[in-house]
Amino acid sequence: MQYRFPVHAELCILFLCGFRGEFVSRTGRSMSVKPPPIHERVVLERKDLQSLFDALHQRKYDLIGPVVHDGAIVYDEFSKVDELPAGRADEQEAATYRLKKTDEPWLFRYTVGPHSWKKFLHPPQLRLWQMHGTGRNLEIDAPVEKPRSLAFIGVRSCDLHAIAVLDKVCIGGPYVDPGYAARRASCFIVAVNCVKAGGTCFCASMNTGPKSEHGFDIALTEIVESHRHYFVADIGTPKGAEVMASVRTSPATPKDIAAADQLVADAAGKMGRALDTRGIKELLYQNIEHPRWDNVAGRCLACANCTMVCPTCFCNTIEDTTNVSGNQAERWRRWDSCFTLEFSYVYGGSVRSTTRSRYRQWLTHKLASWHDQFGSSGCVGCGRCITWCPVGIDITEEARAIRAGSVGHVHKG
Ligand code: SF4
Ligand code: SF4
Repeated sequence: MQYRFPVHAELCILFLCGFRGEFVSRTGRSMSVKPPPIHERVVLERKDLQSLFDALHQRKYDLIGPVVHDGAIVYDEFSKVDELPAGRADEQEAATYRLKKTDEPWLFRYTVGPHSWKKFLHPPQLRLWQMHGTGRNLEIDAPVEKPRSLAFIGVRSCDLHAIAVLDKVCIGGPYVDPGYAARRASCFIVAVNCVKAGGTCFCASMNTGPKSEHGFDIALTEIVESHRHYFVADIGTPKGAEVMASVRTSPATPKDIAAADQLVADAAGKMGRALDTRGIKELLYQNIEHPRWDNVAGRCLACANCTMVCPTCFCNTIEDTTNVSGNQAERWRRWDSCFTLEFSYVYGGSVRSTTRSRYRQWLTHKLASWHDQFGSSGCVGCGRCITWCPVGIDITEEARAIRAGSVGHVHKG
């Protein structure tokens, strides 16, 4: 059914009538009137992608998404489709990242880069409070953060799982990080399903991808055919449905859905790596004295790159500063890493004084003790730590080496 209304009536109809159907606006665009049901799949043509971004802008969201910077795809503010890395393809291997230009129109046919969404939800540095004054005349200013509303565009399935892991750590227990809670409540998530697996990805073996199953407001699968470029969009939440209702879409046909599912299944079949998770917790606990820890310590630089790029590593330190005249002080929270010597410092020295003990701590926390602490793996198989390790240490290879030469020692604490 199609209806024509004068332009001043269009908004009233949108918000008041609530009928389900389609009408044609003065611009000739057919518009959805009622939000599509959650889990419905619709088609968004490439030429209409900007209208999705505009709809988010109208709802006061600032867009954060993939852009090219310093030869890598990173996450930063953008507002126009033209700013996305069209035609860019990445090549990733251990200690290798290369971005290529292609003639293809794909906007999202690459995998994750060095940034993750952690930097927006759990910022690398944060001033907790500041104090001014002298003697007894002290004023403490600890402002309650009012976060910007951010729309994350292009969140991959592994990173949806990483956000869920951070949620458990930062707001899922008895000690809630109020800043994280506010930032998390203010974000809108547009996921993008991976149609190309990266050389260091292993999400399929971690059951964290490449298809986005939950944790998104909208999830897009990009499809490029010889004469058509479009997205199959899954609606994940009422918020996602409300936004999509103001964007021109059409119902996805069985052919559209099959094409989208096939692309994602192909990506799952071409993962660069895999991690065997069977009994991994017990395996690592039983091999705490495995000679492989000495082997990896001989290569590891303890540079902490792996923890900085990891979307789930959340450790931080606290720094207090004062000005020269002593009338102003600040307390900052900064990302830290279990690879630094100072991180395990307790009175008299560091508990983990060797690189061997620090690498072992990191890997066993990610794959074993995280389960005991938070009920899931701390690794989502994004592969960042493999790509961005300057000496190419590979978590999947290290876990495999331990499994291959398991000595079965029982961990006694
Ligand atoms: S594993 Fe690699 S990235 Fe991590 S601390 Fe060691 S050298 Fe640096
Ligand atoms: S440990 Fe490595 S592969 Fe796993 S989530 Fe962190 S960066 Fe990604």
